[in-house]
This record gives sequence, C-alpha cells and structure tokens, in this order.
Amino acid sequence: MQFHDHDGSHYLTYPARLDAGDGAAALTQALSERPPGSPLALHVRLPFCRQACRFCASQRVPSSDNRQAEPYLTRLDREMVLVSRLLGRLPTVQRLHWGGGAPAFLSLDQMGDLFDRLDARFGLSEDRGRDFSIEIDPREANVFTLRHLQALGFNRLSLGVQELDLRVQKAINRIQPRVLTESLVDEAERLGFHSLNLDLIVGLPLQTPRGFGETLDQVIAMTPARITLRRYAHLPERNRPQREILTEDLPDAATRLAILEAARERLDDAGYVHIGLGQFARPDDSLAQALGEGRLARDLQGYTHYPPGDQLGLGVAALSRVGDTLTRNALSLADYEAALDASRLPAGVGHRLDAVERLHRDAIEALACRRELDLTALSQAHGLDAGAALAGALERLAPFCQAGLLERHGECLRVTPDGLWGLTHLLAAFDPEASPVS
Ligand code: SF4
Repeated sequence: MQFHDHDGSHYLTYPARLDAGDGAAALTQALSERPPGSPLALHVRLPFCRQACRFCASQRVPSSDNRQAEPYLTRLDREMVLVSRLLGRLPTVQRLHWGGGAPAFLSLDQMGDLFDRLDARFGLSEDRGRDFSIEIDPREANVFTLRHLQALGFNRLSLGVQELDLRVQKAINRIQPRVLTESLVDEAERLGFHSLNLDLIVGLPLQTPRGFGETLDQVIAMTPARITLRRYAHLPERNRPQREILTEDLPDAATRLAILEAARERLDDAGYVHIGLGQFARPDDSLAQALGEGRLARDLQGYTHYPPGDQLGLGVAALSRVGDTLTRNALSLADYEAALDASRLPAGVGHRLDAVERLHRDAIEALACRRELDLTALSQAHGLDAGAALAGALERLAPFCQAGLLERHGECLRVTPDGLWGLTHLLAAFDPEASPVS
C-alpha cells in the first residue's frame, strides 16, 4: 500500500512540463499542417472568480464585478480571429468546453455574446450529439444560469463541490451549502443535461475519513453520472492562496489513506466504475461504456468517449494540442493581452514531440485508457524498439510491480485494481519531469 494514494492530480499532457519553445510559431505550423476539414475541439479558459479558495492552484484572475471581464472577452475574440485565419475549412465544432476560474462569473449576456462569437468564428454544431460542457461554481449559478446555458446549447455540466463538511469549507474559505449543489443538480437533471459531474477534493485541511465519508454519501445520493476525486497538493511556495492553510490542519498520509479507503468502499458499493485518475462513472455513463468497449480516450480536460483529436485552447494559460504539437498560452494576463494587442498569437511556449516522445505519449495513453501496455504492439506501431526506448521508464516501474500496482506478463504490462488508485505514479514513470505528490 506504499503507493496507494489518490491520484486525481490530472496527468493530462506529455510532457507534463512545458516551459520553453516558441509557442506562437509552433502553433502556427501545427495549424497549417492540419488535414483540411479535420475536426477541432475548443476549450475556452475564463479565469475570473470572486473569492480565493485556499486550495486553489489555478491561474485565476480575482475580480468582484463581471464588467471587469469585458477587456478579456475582447481579447478572446481577437484570439479567435487570429486563429481562425490560420485554419482551413473546418467542420462545425462538435466539442466545446468552458473552464475556469469560474465561467459562471460572467453575466448571462456576456455568456451569450461569447457563445455567438465562437459560433461566428468557428461554427458551432447544433447536433444532438454535440458535447458542449462547462465547469460551474455553484456559488455563481442558479436555475436561470442553467436554463440560459441550456438555451445556448450546453449539454454537460461539471459542478465544483470539493467538500460538504462545514469545518473544512471554512478552512478552505469556500462556504457552499449542500442545498445549493442539490438544487442545481435537480435542475440540471430536469433540463436534460447529461453526464453531470461532481468534483470533490481529498486531502483538504481538517478533512477526516468520517467527514469525507458523509460528504461522499450525500454526493452519491444525488446520483451524478460522474464523480471526480481530485487530490489536494500543498505547494504554498507556488500557489499563493495555499499559504493561508495551516500545515498542521492538513491530514497526514495515514489519514489520507483512510479517507481513500472509505471513498473506495462507498463508490464500489454504489456501483460506480473506476475509470482512472480519480474519475468515477455510473455504469450507464458514456465513459464507463467506452472503457468496457475499449474506446476510452483522453483529451486536455480528462477522459472522454470521443476519439482523441486536435484541441485548441483559447484564453490565458490555455493549452492546445494539435497533431504532435503542444502549446500553452501566456500564463499572465498582462502577457496574454500584450500579445493580442500586438496581433500575435498568445501561445507563449510550445513543443513538437519527436519519434521517441510520441512513443512515450502512446505508452502513457495505453496505460491510462486501456490499463494495458503491449510493448510488442507499441514497437510495431512506432517502428522503434519500445523496450529499449522505454528502458528508463520500465526500470522506474519495477517497484510498482513489486507493490502490486502493475503486473508484467512477458511484453505486456497490466494495471491492477490497486494500481488504478496510483495511476499518476505509473504514468509519471514515463515522464520524470512530472512529480506526483505522494
Ligand atoms: S477553485 Fe475556482 S472559484 Fe476557487 S479560487 Fe480557484 S478558480 Fe476561483
């Protein structure tokens, strides 16, 4: 059980660290090389939120008035124009995600205007099969917000719950009564949003196995299609709001494990399928079905049942993945705005994977999505000796085999059920730059 810790700390991109390279040039080249007419998913980053949750590690922009978002929305439109000029013929966009910050910080009019601009620049699908999702901070939303979002075309929601225990809520500066979440869940169901996800965090200050167990019981009683357990990583030197958290209030390793054991039991009993990386889904949800049918994939937001494809991120600190190129927009609002004011793409850094890196990426995706890595098949797919190229990773994985998180049968590695709870550690073996908190 040495490595049996929760691993909801999104390991979404390979390489995990992206801090060099000319992002604008890399993105321009990658977009120009896209096959004409190939689909593109859009991710819009809206960084504003009102009040700092003490656990937050996001590139947030504190703001008390949604009118302060106007200059940002103008820059977003500028970014759309610059990018759309580089795109050839584009099929209507089937996949759209708005993430934060807190997207519902925007007024209803601002949301409508942004949606219209996205439609004008890229063409948004009206098909029933579209996947338009948004992250919602329940403190910023009400039934009118959900009705407005549905009228715009959104059909999937992720609500940030984090914890329902009031002591913990006070310690993280995020008071969010259960009834607030429940009323939104009820309304979302009535309006026909599907695959509703509720986000929880493990490892918060003052959290106990009993308190978190009660939170999870209440969340399970709301019957969301998906539940995400994220892990709190305490990095106060990097994340300013976390400096308000008293280290002595944090649960120790044994308590975190007890919390996770309680969570595992409850989720199992309730019939949720462990997808991996802290994601759980009801058996009737599309993620669980995709897992069962061997077509589970991941994009920059997490697991998906859609085939992996190009993803364009818009907004400050947004990530894009186009072909084998990964770019990230400027991290600071000032740099993001300055680039757009100078009519430059705001992608600050970027990297194009070489042949060996592509093999590492595909090894990671195989373990994350299929829970199995066949070195022979990987060698054939890439025309490289996977055993030799991954020698360092295989060496780093050896202790996990001994700990029972991974089994090796000849040229095939398989993640065990225990290993699913330590998947970040397994994936990070392929990427020493990624350092999951243990
Ligand atoms: S978690 Fe969300 S709402 Fe809380 S401070 Fe971070 S961005 Fe803002």
